[in-house]
Amino acid sequence: MDASLRNRKRPSEGRSSCLHEDCGHRERLYSPPFDRRITRVPVQRFPYCLNCGKLKNVSSDKAKMAGWFTNLLRVVNHNIALSHGKITQAQQRLIISDIERVADFEDRYHMTRSAQLDLFFVAIHRQRPDIPFWVLERAATPEPPRKADPVKALPAWVQYLEWLKKKRARDAAAAAPK
Ligand SMILES: [Zn+2]
Repeated sequence: MDASLRNRKRPSEGRSSCLHEDCGHRERLYSPPFDRRITRVPVQRFPYCLNCGKLKNVSSDKAKMAGWFTNLLRVVNHNIALSHGKITQAQQRLIISDIERVADFEDRYHMTRSAQLDLFFVAIHRQRPDIPFWVLERAATPEPPRKADPVKALPAWVQYLEWLKKKRARDAAAAAPK
């Protein structure tokens, strides 16, 4: 079969130069964790690929497709527009082609999303050296959901009256069909 057709995999598995034949459960290798800050287990057993020898990423830090980063670039662009000025369309295309040129960028077997994000920020920084990395990281991080302001919230006795009104309506609705 033609190599370009054979290497076309399902999007969930990502695209890579290797087809990644998994070694299976029993053959796993003993290896130190990829990141000691995340994994406390001193030595883990990892499955590996029989063809290229890459260790399988068994963490929850899964790689994303390039399209996900195109979307993220739009979010970053929106968040830095006021402080640093927008990234132009031409620069955006250069950034995306930069990360797509990285070998096995979309390889979900071996690549992690944190490594992809590092490559993504470096690619942006190559086009826009005036934007510091911490700004890019903050712009790419979603804002935590806002909690209701306790000062602006209704007083407890008003909340109680609201609850009582609803309860009476509920009781009336329950009593009506008899
Ligand atoms: Zn492989």
